[in-house]
Amino acid sequence: AIAGIGYIGYGVYEDRHPEPQVVPDPSKKTLVILGTGWGSVSLLKRLDTENYNVVVISPRNYFLFTPLLPSCTTGTIEHRSIMEPIRTILRQKKASVRFYEAEASSIDPDRKVVRIFDNSEIRGDITETEVPYDMLVIGVGAENATFGIPGVRDHSCFLKEIGDAQRIRKRIMDCVETAAFKDQSPEEINRLLHMVVVGGGPTGVEFAGELQDFFEEDIKKLVPEISDRFRVTLIEALPNVLPMFSKQLIDYTESTFKEEKIDIHTKTMVKKVTDKTVEAEVTRPDGKKETIVFPYGLLVWATGNAVRPVIKDLIARIPAQANSRRGLAVNEYLVVQGTRDIWAVGDCAVAGYAPTAQVAGQEGTFLARLFNNMAKTEALEGKISELSSSLNLQPGNSAAVSREIEGYERQLRRIKDAKPFHYSHQGSLAYIGSDKAVADVTWFNGNVAAAGSLTYLFWRSAYISMCFSTRNRLLVINDWFKSKVFGRDLSR
Ligand code: NAD
Repeated sequence: AIAGIGYIGYGVYEDRHPEPQVVPDPSKKTLVILGTGWGSVSLLKRLDTENYNVVVISPRNYFLFTPLLPSCTTGTIEHRSIMEPIRTILRQKKASVRFYEAEASSIDPDRKVVRIFDNSEIRGDITETEVPYDMLVIGVGAENATFGIPGVRDHSCFLKEIGDAQRIRKRIMDCVETAAFKDQSPEEINRLLHMVVVGGGPTGVEFAGELQDFFEEDIKKLVPEISDRFRVTLIEALPNVLPMFSKQLIDYTESTFKEEKIDIHTKTMVKKVTDKTVEAEVTRPDGKKETIVFPYGLLVWATGNAVRPVIKDLIARIPAQANSRRGLAVNEYLVVQGTRDIWAVGDCAVAGYAPTAQVAGQEGTFLARLFNNMAKTEALEGKISELSSSLNLQPGNSAAVSREIEGYERQLRRIKDAKPFHYSHQGSLAYIGSDKAVADVTWFNGNVAAAGSLTYLFWRSAYISMCFSTRNRLLVINDWFKSKVFGRDLSR
């Protein structure tokens, strides 16, 4: 009976099930898409899957709405509210798409195969296999940069995946409960309740803001005995935080952090991490360098992106990529340079833009249009050649057939006139705590800088409208309401 109640995806009432495709259609090309992040999912959303045998491969069988990930670390938002299963996304497509939950370990551009492995928990072993492609889109993202700094991988939490947010949430409560345990020394309480964030980009800033909110609005009330010990410190190597924002917004963020009692240490570069301390080198105003040690209970490492091994391996296989350091160099149509049938989108591609969700999303949409047009082009060319050969066989009809051919040729020229990828920057937004946000928004070709509580409402509405599905939107609104009315959940 419930079957009639359709899944509300893309904001539309729909209940579509493409016919399962048992074997690939030999008349169509195989398009393999790696990843289920912003780039790949934006491509899938608009791709006409009837034109290709589409195979999606990703170790993550869901799309994650990353802009709200910092809110999951404190339970303001529950993690499932910002996840959208890839299977529900694929169900919306006209033609069936195959999905393999697996990680790509290498790509062979000569043999045109992707080597993949599935680290199956249920079987406790690793299954490896190869998937051939005619066209390949790489949207595997990036990994966390650690710059080889000792101790980072072993002792800090990153903030990229849903598991990272869950780990941080548990760790915060572990620190709080351990600090509140019987007979702890004052030094140990101070250490446990010192939350250190490394990296003053938007990830570090948003997380620090969320964490201070959690403390002010909930922890302080529920665990009053530790309330004067909890501290958040943000460490940044550059002279200021949020370098991509305007000076005015940087100043606003820094003064808001001061009011919120978040300590900012700029010109401070972390050099070493141990299980209980962070060692950093500070550059004093007179240029002298000094080492300071920060004991910590929780350490969150948010210093940006590094290239994934599978991408490094591919770079090494393509001579034209010899100088690529930050990812796969792509041309203006997002084709990986030195190849003809591999495209790259998002954080693993170097197209001259910042590695943001906005860029990846627009790149995915661009590729969908490109591939839809490529399929149309092939169909039109087929029709033209068919009609051209019939022209000689039926001379009486030649005027009508020629007109038809001309019509197709006009359509073909229009499609073939495809413009290269152009990124249109809509602006940058960041939450900075205590119901305030900063925004650098593009408005009628000009830039508008805004900050404060109204900007926070704008931040909320912008993110709500960007959520993947109506289901996600309702869940996020519900979480915001729930945490405001009942407080955040302190259970571990
Ligand atoms: P980031 O690259 O923007 O910032 C990392 C910061 O870490 C840099 O400022 C760097 O100077 C600092 N750093 C590096 N090594 C350090 C060290 N050893 N000690 C101290 N500081 C060190 O990283 P991010 O915040 O993770 O963002 C990654 C990308 O995603 C960026 O392009 C960003 O714009 C985008 N993003 C945007 C938003 C948003 O718009 N709200 C949110 C998250 C991420």
